[in-house]
Amino acid sequence: MKYYIMFGPPGAGKGTHAAAVREKYNLCHLSTGELLRAEIAKGSELGLHAKSLIDKGSLVPDSVVEGMIENQFNDVKGVAGFLLDGFPRTLGQARDLDAILAKRGEEVTAVISLMISDETVKQRIAHRAAIEGRADDASEETINNRIKTYHTQTEPLIEYYKAQGKYHEVQAEEPTIEQNRAKVLALMETIEK
Ligand code: ADP
Repeated sequence: MKYYIMFGPPGAGKGTHAAAVREKYNLCHLSTGELLRAEIAKGSELGLHAKSLIDKGSLVPDSVVEGMIENQFNDVKGVAGFLLDGFPRTLGQARDLDAILAKRGEEVTAVISLMISDETVKQRIAHRAAIEGRADDASEETINNRIKTYHTQTEPLIEYYKAQGKYHEVQAEEPTIEQNRAKVLALMETIEK
């Protein structure tokens, strides 16, 4: 099985490009953000706890997202692999993911990193707020916290995966989604070879 990680700051286009990659390579797209929003919509206890953290721009505990991911690995059948979007987001999650996969005799295949500047993060999220209506996109304070959280907790993963020779980056600052998607799909082709 293939285990791809779609990596990048908030608003980089992880979910958007994951849809095209999933379809082309018969992968299951797993977005921890979407799984958490589904729990919030259900009104579950987990969802209520997660919402208070997400609305502040903080991360939910590692154990919560790892449990959701492992359940999906167990349940989903009939795909060539998984495309992880928004997970892992901390070094702890990256190490735990390696352990979860090792138990299954598997490993991370590659990391596809979408790189954009903090300025572009702010512009993209402002644009998305008007379209998707996500509570965590609406407040400037929350967005600034998410950018800070990305730099302090998530960015160190770049070195972690570089050290494993699994890190691949595209500059995702092109003006249109199509142009950025073309770059992502071109990178995928070189990795799949
Ligand atoms: P984006 O990357 O566009 O900010 P996501 O939908 O990936 O949005 O995530 C939304 C929020 O859900 C995050 O800001 C965080 O609070 C929470 N979240 C998502 N994935 C994780 C994760 N792997 N670990 C902890 N919290 C997460």
